[in-house]
Amino acid sequence: MHCPFCRHPDSRVVDSRTTDDGTSIRRRRQCPDCSRRFTTVETCSLMVVKRSGVTEPFSRTKVINGVRKACQGRPVTEDALAQLGQRVEEAVRATGSAELTTHDVGLAILGPLQELDLVAFLRFASVYRAFDSLEDFEAAIAELRQARGPAADDEDARAGSQEDQRGPGGTIEVPVPAHAAD
Ligand SMILES: [Zn+2]
Repeated sequence: MHCPFCRHPDSRVVDSRTTDDGTSIRRRRQCPDCSRRFTTVETCSLMVVKRSGVTEPFSRTKVINGVRKACQGRPVTEDALAQLGQRVEEAVRATGSAELTTHDVGLAILGPLQELDLVAFLRFASVYRAFDSLEDFEAAIAELRQARGPAADDEDARAGSQEDQRGPGGTIEVPVPAHAAD
């Protein structure tokens, strides 16, 4: 690849090491022209098969954008979204599979999102798991309460069951999950 400093068309590898989790290789390179050093990361190309059957490269940005929609109005920072994106990517890469479905990606999002914000989790899950009735929300909330134990009846869970799931006029606002937009 081109030197990122002087655009020289070639570079020399001076060091290669596999990352701890074994899913990528970092190479230290040196430009033979300007002698500056830079690092490249080699990972397995990860493809996502969409519902339409179209295949596209996995995109952490798409994951983050999908989750960001579910987090509208919630106290979730961009940093937290970036961390979630990284966790999701690490999780799907750790499967060792070179090809995933949008369903696999959604599944990998649910766990970290549940830890991040319960309301956003319910919004996302409502689309991902195709909730089509209030009973579906109630069942999901009951599941969350059970998973969180007796202390679970807090602000997040209440907000999830009442106000925050409804938009103006009582409609349920649904975000588009990552990779499901088209
Ligand atoms: Zn150079």
